Amino acid sequence: MATCEECGEKLVGERGCSYCQGTFCQHHQLPEKHDCPGVKNLDQTGHRFDSGFDGLP
Ligand SMILES: [Zn+2]
Ligand SMILES: [Zn+2]
Repeated sequence: MATCEECGEKLVGERGCSYCQGTFCQHHQLPEKHDCPGVKNLDQTGHRFDSGFDGLP
């Protein structure tokens, strides 16, 4: 069973970060929540990541 790489929570369904290919729970799925190495690469190339999920509780 897959587990969140950030907190170890068991995942019911496969959740993958499209930037670093890591598996994370709903709380850590966003690149900014798990210090995603993929986002750092994007920043270096001039692209900006906009999650659009700032309204989560
Ligand atoms: Zn987690
Ligand atoms: Zn990531």
